[in-house]
This record gives sequence, structure tokens and C-alpha cells, in this order.
Amino acid sequence: MAKSKEVKKENKDDEFSDKIIDLEDLPGVGPETARKLREAGFTTIEAVGVASPAELSAATEISESTAAKIIAAARKMADIGGFETGDAILERRKKVGKITTGSESLDKLLGGGVETQAITELFGEFGSGKTQICHQLAVNVQMPKENGGLNGVVIVIDTENTFRPERIIQMAEARGLDAKDVLKNIFVAQAYNSNHQMLLVDNAKELANKLKKDGKEVRLLIVDSLTSHFRAEYVGRGTLADRQQKLNRHLHDLMKFGDLFNAAIVVTNQVQAKPDTFYGDPTRPVGGHIVAHTATFRIYLRKSKGELRVARLIDSPHLPEGEAVFKITERGVEDK
Ligand code: ADP
Ligand code: MG
Repeated sequence: MAKSKEVKKENKDDEFSDKIIDLEDLPGVGPETARKLREAGFTTIEAVGVASPAELSAATEISESTAAKIIAAARKMADIGGFETGDAILERRKKVGKITTGSESLDKLLGGGVETQAITELFGEFGSGKTQICHQLAVNVQMPKENGGLNGVVIVIDTENTFRPERIIQMAEARGLDAKDVLKNIFVAQAYNSNHQMLLVDNAKELANKLKKDGKEVRLLIVDSLTSHFRAEYVGRGTLADRQQKLNRHLHDLMKFGDLFNAAIVVTNQVQAKPDTFYGDPTRPVGGHIVAHTATFRIYLRKSKGELRVARLIDSPHLPEGEAVFKITERGVEDK
């Protein structure tokens, strides 16, 4: 505790570091209440801020009126529902960083690389290269700025069990990096269902705060895949609205993470190739317009000949539509 306060002071000029707040910093929350809150899944100030007094009270055995006060304080500290002035937003925007994909043409399509403080959605059929790009970014984000990285570390929420350290080693070695060090800066969690996946974003915040105290900045959060659990769990028309609502909340949690830590959020979304099926329409992947409206950059990936892949930028508000051709080789993502 005392230590975290010290860190806060030391990094005063870093705009993002003043947001390291522990549950114990909330008025009326001692170690015991904090422990109960964490046990009940309220692991961050944000989670407390969006809870109801009844929920908190049930979790901690404090009265609802005390809970209401704690929630109000958490909202203030986490800036929930608060307004930001334009110049504060401008200051935050100035810190936007870009991560190279490994392909210059793909970087160019994205306006210079994968941006922090934004959600980038990679969608395409099975084998189109979504997971490969995620692996590549997990390596590249660790590189120094002059090499297209952000000197950062990465958190991966893996829902399909497709994270492969062996693949990271190949990519890291191809760039002359120490593969062991690279692997040490990739923090992977498997999500067992959609609820767990959502909870992992809270855990990611906690982890990112902890890492920050050790001088490590999380600059990339990957969710691969964003939609597989949601698709599997919510079948049939009746539950579609529920699914979209949860997905919407999940995406907003992710966006918040991106703003809070100045991190890039990269999510994947699988679509089927057959053009005659509902999901086959590339403009209508799972999650449809919910994801479309929240993601800042949407990249449609398709296979071409052999190693070649084609990326197309879909409805970007400030970048021209276009396509980039790149390849996936043993070395990773490269220009063709
Ligand atoms: P998805 O879009 O389903 O996530 P992936 O990103 O897993 O697809 O892409 C899988 C493809 O990536 C493979 O079909 C292959 O073309 C390529 N790939 C994966 N690993 C390697 C490797 N070690 N060397 C060369 N190409 C690879
Ligand atoms: Mg994949």
C-alpha cells in the first residue's frame, strides 16, 4: 500500500500512473472488506463503481447505505460517468502508440500500425491468419519504439486454446530477440466460458496495475477469440438480445482497459467462408453491429495463394478503405 503510493508520486508526470488505486484506498474499506470484495469478484475500483448497493452489501456484509457510499467514492475515483474536458482528451490522444504488424503494407493500411486506446477487430474465416497476427503483435509490442514496438508487455485472453509459445519462439528468434524474455512478458489466461472471459478483463486490470508497479507497461490486450464462447452459448433467437448486451458490456470493458493503460485492444472474430450463409457475409460476423460500432478498426482477412493473405479495412471513420497483401511464413507476418 505505502509502496504503491510512493510509485504514484514518482511517476507523477505519467498521466496514466495516477490511476493505480487499490480497493483499500476507498473510504470505509479495510483489509477485511477488501478481501471479501475480491473474493466476490469485485477486484477493481471500476467493478465496485458499477455494482449495486445490494450486490456489495451481500458480498461483504456491510449495510446497503455504507455500500452506496463506497460505490459513490469508487465512481469518483474511477471517473465512471464523469465528463472529461476536450483538452484532457487531446492530451490522452497524444499518447496513442502504434505497434507494427510486421508487414509494412498492413501497417500502412492501418495508418501506421495497431493503435493503442482503440479496439482492432480481426475477422475472417478459419486459417485466415487472425491468431498468427495476434502472436506477432505479442512479440512486436515488446520491441523498442524505433523498431515498431512500444517497449510493452502483453496480456492474452485465449478462448480457443490456440496460444502457442513455440510459435512465439519462432517469431521472436526471427527478429533476433531473446525468446525466453519475450515469453516472460506474455501473460496468458484461458477463458472457459463467456462469463469467465468477461471476468478476466477485471483480472487483467489488476495484473496490469501490479505489473506497472514493477515497471512493466501492458500495451496490448488480446482476446482471441472475442466471440467463440458467446456464439456457442447463445443459440436461438430468444437469447440473441442477451448475447448482444453482454458482448456490448464486454467490449466497453475492453475499451476502458485500452484508455486506462494506453493499450491496444486486439480481438478476433471468426466468420464462415460460404457466401450463402448468414454469417458468411463478411460485413456480418458474429456480434454483428455491436462489434462493428465499438471496434475502431475492423480488418477483414482472407486467404490467398499459399502463404499470402489479404487484409481489407472495413468502414473506418478516418482512414481510406483499401487492401494490403502480406504473407505468413515460419518467421511470422511479413510483406509479400
Ligand atoms: P485463424 O484465422 O483461424 O486464427 P491462424 O492465424 O491460426 O488462423 O492461421 C493459421 C495459418 O497460419 C496456417 O494455415 C498457416 O498457413 C499459417 N501458419 C501457422 N503457423 C505457421 C508456421 N509455423 N509457419 C508457417 N505458417 C504458419
Ligand atoms: Mg485462431
